[in-house]
Amino acid sequence: MKLVERVAQLRAERPSWGRAGLVPTMGYLHEGHLSLLRAARDANDTVVMSLFVNPTQFGPREDLAAYPRDIPRDLYLASNAGVDVVFMPDADEVYPAGFDTWVEPGALAVRWEGERRPNHFRGVATVVLKLFQMVRPERAYFGEKDYQQLKVVSKMVEDFNLPIEIVACPTVRESDGLALSSRNAYLSDDGRRGAANLSRALFHAQRLAFDGERDVPQLLAETHAILAEEPSLQVDYLAVVDPASLEPLDELRESARIIAAAFCEGVRLIDNAPIEGPPTT
Ligand code: AMP
Repeated sequence: MKLVERVAQLRAERPSWGRAGLVPTMGYLHEGHLSLLRAARDANDTVVMSLFVNPTQFGPREDLAAYPRDIPRDLYLASNAGVDVVFMPDADEVYPAGFDTWVEPGALAVRWEGERRPNHFRGVATVVLKLFQMVRPERAYFGEKDYQQLKVVSKMVEDFNLPIEIVACPTVRESDGLALSSRNAYLSDDGRRGAANLSRALFHAQRLAFDGERDVPQLLAETHAILAEEPSLQVDYLAVVDPASLEPLDELRESARIIAAAFCEGVRLIDNAPIEGPPTT
């Protein structure tokens, strides 16, 4: 496994890579990241993992400085997962002095995370476009865990005619349902147990829909009731949305997505799940 810190070195080596799959990460790897790496390993000649805690997607009061880091462990796990190249640039390599051009995502980025975290998706889209230009992958892998991010990136690829296939990978969870996240490291053992109630509530909504509930306010009321059973969780938002536009729905249609954010011990957790009605027989 090769460690690359400079764009010039990427450029020099790119011609020998064949079909490249890129997995962008901010490090502190867990099974969610590893599932993306395995998917990339299965389908490409060369797997490139970027490891970069992107400052421009953090707000001024967010956890950039405290974001968990363990580079030796990340390199060990990446190597075991069959990564060929780890691209680990400094912030100055990605954003040299005078950097002044941004990708401004549209309607998909306005609500939910975009509303709570101003400029977050501008930072995400900008760094992802830069990584795409630096690495020039044929495919790039993103987790459904960050559903709105996946949509924003896919739309950018479509709108800018980027010759890259975006591969969406399912959310990897703990056995109690908690979606894996680097930020779970901030939680105490009690916090982790309480946090699992977020996914439990989303799965309950899934079942209600499957059993025939069509009324979204009713569905949300029941989901809120489950969330309220866990006092350590404070809901930030909970919504049933169109899976393509992320606009809220009043009535369930063929397919929808339930999305949620909640605070647990001061840590902001996000999760989401597909919502489908009963199968037509
Ligand atoms: P991050 O390091 O948090 O920026 O995440 C890097 C990539 O891993 C993103 O595409 C995330 O959506 C994805 N990811 C994070 N957590 C999970 C998870 N639990 N399951 C699947 N993918 C995940």
